[in-house]
Amino acid sequence: ARSLRIGLIPGDGIGREVIPAGKKILESLPSSLGLSFSFVDLDAGFDCFKRTGAALPDKTVKTLKEECDGALFGAVSSPTTKVAGYSSPIVAMRKSLGLYANVRPCKTVLSPAFASPTKTPIDLVIVRENTEDLYVKEEKTYPDPSDPTGKAQIAEAIKRISSKASWRIADIAGQIALRRDKMRQASGSGTSHTKQGMVTITHKSNVLSQTDGLFRSTAREALSQPHFNALKIEEQIVDKYYDVIVAPNLYGDLLSDGSAALVGSLGLVPSANVGEGIIIGEPCHGSAPDIEGKGVANPIATIRSVGVMLEFMDLPDAAEVIYKAVDASLAEGKLVTPDLGGTATTQQVTDDIIKRL
Ligand code: NAD
Ligand code: MN
Repeated sequence: ARSLRIGLIPGDGIGREVIPAGKKILESLPSSLGLSFSFVDLDAGFDCFKRTGAALPDKTVKTLKEECDGALFGAVSSPTTKVAGYSSPIVAMRKSLGLYANVRPCKTVLSPAFASPTKTPIDLVIVRENTEDLYVKEEKTYPDPSDPTGKAQIAEAIKRISSKASWRIADIAGQIALRRDKMRQASGSGTSHTKQGMVTITHKSNVLSQTDGLFRSTAREALSQPHFNALKIEEQIVDKYYDVIVAPNLYGDLLSDGSAALVGSLGLVPSANVGEGIIIGEPCHGSAPDIEGKGVANPIATIRSVGVMLEFMDLPDAAEVIYKAVDASLAEGKLVTPDLGGTATTQQVTDDIIKRL
């Protein structure tokens, strides 16, 4: 059996309730897949900061780098008032591990428990650039020279786009579109409008001709490599449907939170951080302090994130086993958590999915 070491970083709030569910899924995968897993518990987040003075201890990064094939990250809390010395460890973690892509599949749930918020089902993947754009956090504030009282202020932030980062994000989006195409053909699924793999390049180069202009032209160039010939390449939000959307950091963040709303609950939407080595699966939701400690957090976003992690570790068969078990549980719709209108606990939903692996 191929043995894989997985870092577990629950973080704060319901992260501590859903990451154990993800671990149990890995432990329960059918032995016919030929995989065995070992785990290492790792610390990060606001609670960790309060205990140790560091939101992302060096040991966590070092262990991920040196020992782990993959990892699962729950969520971290950000206090509503500024706490000196604390900033969310997510950006630092992505940076130190070279995780330049955040990949977020969004798929409509077909379940009697739960009506889809959209008329037509959604099945798309957002590929968000993870390292630059406005999120380089280079900001400054200065007095507004047009104000004689000197009280008015102006704040500015740098939006940085590089051809290197734009190329690699478009390239990985193209690879994802090709793989989705292959999987659709293998399973015979897909409707008339998903006959061909497609990448939509999101940008505002009509307004931001240099920054978004560079993103657009570089993404175009990357996606015109011969091995992407089978893909259709679109731009902007022009079409009625999407397959793979590639976007700079900010637009990708907004688009993926919006898409999560369109499939119904944050508790359903997975992601993976992908880059130069380790793959980190991560549900899209936060630490949900409003339901923390009640044992009713929806584990599906995390369980699907286990699937996305495995997909990017080149284990598509294991990923498929997980996706199918989740879909089957939702299709029956008997055991769903309160965010989907049910009364089931995290544990019950997890066990129901395990039963179907
Ligand atoms: P949130 O995602 O934590 O919660 C938003 C709403 O969705 C809440 O009503 C919550 O109960 C519900 N929800 C989220 N996940 C759920 C699940 N698995 N099952 C059932 N219901 C679920 O976002 P928020 O309320 O804006 O933020 C709360 C905290 O989380 C803040 O401290 C914020 O900074 C942090 N946060 C962290 C991340 C991250 O770690 N990636 C992302 C977003 C927010
Ligand atoms: Mn967000």
